[in-house]
Formats: sequence, C-alpha cells, structure tokens
Amino acid sequence: MSHRYRLYPSPGQEPGLGRHCADARFVWNLALEQANCWRAGRGSTPGPAERQRQLAEARAGTFLAEGSSSVQQQALRDFDRAMANWWGKTHRRPRWRKQGQDEGFCIRDITVKQVNRRWAEVGVPKVGMVRFRLSRPMPTTFGMARVKLDPSGRWHVSFAAAQDPVVRTPTGSAAGIDRGVATTLAISDGTMLRAPSCPKLASRVVRLDQQLARQRRGSKRRAKTKRARARAHARIADCRRDWVEKTSTRLVFDHDVIVLEDLRVTNMVRRAKPKADPEQPGAFLPNGAAAKAGLNRAIQRSNWSVFARRLEDKATAGGGTVLFVDPRYTSQQCRRCGHTAPENRESQAVFRCVACGYANHADSNAAENILARGLVLAPTPGHGASPRKRAARRSPPRAAARTSETDAA
Ligand SMILES: [Zn+2]
Repeated sequence: MSHRYRLYPSPGQEPGLGRHCADARFVWNLALEQANCWRAGRGSTPGPAERQRQLAEARAGTFLAEGSSSVQQQALRDFDRAMANWWGKTHRRPRWRKQGQDEGFCIRDITVKQVNRRWAEVGVPKVGMVRFRLSRPMPTTFGMARVKLDPSGRWHVSFAAAQDPVVRTPTGSAAGIDRGVATTLAISDGTMLRAPSCPKLASRVVRLDQQLARQRRGSKRRAKTKRARARAHARIADCRRDWVEKTSTRLVFDHDVIVLEDLRVTNMVRRAKPKADPEQPGAFLPNGAAAKAGLNRAIQRSNWSVFARRLEDKATAGGGTVLFVDPRYTSQQCRRCGHTAPENRESQAVFRCVACGYANHADSNAAENILARGLVLAPTPGHGASPRKRAARRSPPRAAARTSETDAA
C-alpha cells in the first residue's frame, strides 16, 4: 500500500530527475544481466554486499560518478527484492527496464516539508526540494519514497505506508463475489457491478493507434501522438483505479466477511500455445490466439488482483475478513442441489440446472457458491451478527449455507 502524490518538478529540476531514472534503470539492467549470465555449475551470482562493492568500483571514473550513489544503490536493493519475490513465487522474474516505460527511482532518506495546506516538498538527492500536491494527508509514518514518470509525462511520488485505519461498524453480513469479464463483480445478494469501460477514451486510443501506424518512426509527430495515446491510457487507468477504490471501500463497509475465488490471475492471462500443423512442418494451425489475447485484455482491464488486494487491505484494517476459496466448478455447480455439469450453463448469462431445474443468473449462482464455500471454512467468530439481521437475509435454497453462516457469525 502506498500514498501517491502528483509531483511538480520545476523545468530546472526535471533533467536531474530524468538522470536519476536513467541511472537506476542502467544499474538495474546491469544486475539483471549478471543474473542472466548464471549457468549451472558456475557458482552463485554475487550477493547484495558484493554487488554494492562492485557498484562503488564501477562508479570510480565513469559517468555513474556524476549521479547520486544512493539512487544507484537503491536500484540494486530494488532488484534484490524483485529477485526474492520471484524466488518466493509471488511475482514474475524481473525484466529489462525500458526507456520511456520504466522510468523511476527510489529515495531512501526522506525529508518532507509541508509548504502550506496544499503543497509539500520532498528532498531528492542532487536535485533539491521538489514540490508535490497534497491531495490527501501525508501518512504519519512511512518507509521509502518512489519517484516515477509515467509515459504520459506525469511525475508522481509515492510513500510506502500502512493502510489507513478503516472505521466501520459490524453489519453481520457476509458476501461471496464472483469476478468475471462480462460482469466485473457479481455479488451473492444479486448485485452486479461493472467496471467503467470509458468508451470515448477507448475509441480515442484506437484512433491514435491508427494514426501512429501511419507516422514515420522517429518523427516529431509520431512522438506527439504517442504522448497523446499515453495520456488517454492514463486517464482510463485512473478511472478504473478510482472505481476499484470506491467499490472495495463500499463492500468492506457493507460486509463483515467477503469470500473471493482464489484465482491465479498471472496464470490465467498466459498466451495461447502455438499449435503445430502435423501435415506441414514449420506451419501452424489456428490456436485462438487473438481471442485469448482479447480475453486477457478484458481480464487485465477488470483489475481482478488489484481489487482483491485492496479489499484485503481495507477489510483487515477495519476488522473484517476476506476469504479465498477453491474456484473449481463454481460456475457449473447448482446452488440448490449441488449437481455439477457444464450443461448447467445454458449460456454465458443463464444458469439452469439439468437435474433440478433451478435457474438463476450464472454469475449470481457462482457468487452464491463462492459464499457457501467460504462459510464452510468457518471464519473467526465474533463479527457480531444480530439475530434480526441474520433472519432478514434471504433465499431458502441457501438454508444449508445459512446454518454454517450462523455458526460462523
Ligand atoms: Zn440443481
């Protein structure tokens, strides 16, 4: 969790920040190259201390000496953390950092000075105090700061800090949530929530893409179109992020227990495997790559993992619980009789059980299954459900699930 603010460097400060970005990227890529050179039987790659020593050596007499040593050292620590995350199987392997795409660096010893109610300044090595807009209060305690330049040309500074406490009163309610593509979130109480699709901005991106395809590489107009496209993308991302924040806050306020499917989103957005043609060596059969790419985009657009993470952060900070359950067959299982078959899905939206005839919206049925599975896990007691509220909750088919829910609450 981090607190992010828009940074407004003066025209004189911007080259200094750009320089730090370039240094951090260079050092990161060197470390990655070193890691890539490892082969079996060659002994281990240099550890963090050895690498810092190598950096000090490399700084002597090269262009790196003009940059900030703390920014460069921090890039190495950043890389070590990324490698550790990869070994820990929570993240992908660190990748090359590209100019214009991965522009950023970390500051370790932070000085922050509030200028007035709206503005504050953060100290950047070799650059001085840089202004940022206090769009929200500063966290009381924070770790290091990260400065970033996004492709649309905006600078941001974010401070690593704990989630602000969420003050909520227990409602005694539990909800299962099915994350999908057609409906972003289907809640077990029947609510359907859809992430904003920003049609105007999306069609602007398409138009700019077409324009870009006609323009000469390296031309000034092409660069201008690229910036415009990055701005449109940034606005879409802002809009979706805003939706995720608001929706997750509301859900945490409404429910003591929230159950989600334990989805491995990174595994779900893999590319379609190429299908070799057995009759023509070297040729390939249609493998649905375009359709899969479209689905992947839709999944990424829905911000599934960000949503789950924010929900967990906020629920934990407010005394609620988020549970993750096995996602298998939640969309094929009948909520009333438990019959599980692909034929139960009449269409993308309609669920009709072939055994007992129970019909519902497919996503609502899945959300109810998810809730039931979560309640079997029996979350920690003490979420103060009042008997009245429990009785007010609905749907006879969930009688079995309700009993366990009552035990849980
Ligand atoms: Zn059934």
